[in-house]
Amino acid sequence: MTEGLRIAVPNKGRLKEPSTALLHDAGLSFESTDRALSVPVQNADLELIFVRTDDIPELVTDGVADVGITGYDLLAESELGASLKVLAELDYGHCRLAAAVPAHNSDISRWEAFSGSRIATSHPRVTGSFFADKDIDVKVVEFKGSVEVATKIGVADAIVDLVSTGSTLQINGLRAVGTVLESQAVLVAGERQNGTVARLASALSAVVTARRTRYLVLNAPEERVEEIAELVPGLRSPTVMPLQESGMVAIHTTVATSKVWDLLPRLEAAGGQDILVLPVHQML
Ligand code: AMP
Repeated sequence: MTEGLRIAVPNKGRLKEPSTALLHDAGLSFESTDRALSVPVQNADLELIFVRTDDIPELVTDGVADVGITGYDLLAESELGASLKVLAELDYGHCRLAAAVPAHNSDISRWEAFSGSRIATSHPRVTGSFFADKDIDVKVVEFKGSVEVATKIGVADAIVDLVSTGSTLQINGLRAVGTVLESQAVLVAGERQNGTVARLASALSAVVTARRTRYLVLNAPEERVEEIAELVPGLRSPTVMPLQESGMVAIHTTVATSKVWDLLPRLEAAGGQDILVLPVHQML
């Protein structure tokens, strides 16, 4: 028997679409709607509540939701975040909190050089404790949004802001000096950790792992199996099945998505034919 759970999911912003897609890919059926705050999952005793990404650490701590999906940066920034447990890293929403200074108007290029400077950020707690841990005295200026303009308007000497590619920094005439925190979307849970919480974490992790994996099917002459198996050892060892055609086998295995590009010509050179590369949906 499993008990019901309430899951807090981002209702807008960058993490909304990928979070909904992840829950669907994990096999949960629910209606994606912009209107309802709360939506039941049709094929499991789960309820989704759609709320602001930055409210999620607090809602889970307070027990309004049992688990939630949010950015690791928001968890680290939340006063209550420390009481929550990260159950799974979800491999989207990748970004970093970068410290940056005006590109042509600052000689800061290492952490110690920030000493005495004013730093604008929407992550004051993370920024404050990062510099305090390094014994560097800075003045943190809290900004709710548009942190990148803070140096232009003269309220700060540097900023600490979320970046993924760094192009926004460049457009705003800023130069990154270093990384304060690495972030991605995470599944977090509060105190109530039952079997259903573990099952959800495992189902989401199964999708995350599967997305990094491809299922590979190919035919090959029997005498080349060992050569091919060395290239694609799979999870345990490849499955090798005889074909109707004598002397030929089918080989089934899994490979890391990132290796596929490199592997295909090597498999062909090793005698692989009729190669299929297929998606994997979940991998436990
Ligand atoms: P939102 O402000 O609702 O779009 O969500 C912001 C969250 O998305 C942040 O707290 C991060 O966890 C994540 N994120 C991923 N990439 C970026 C980025 N380039 N800029 C800001 N937030 C990002």
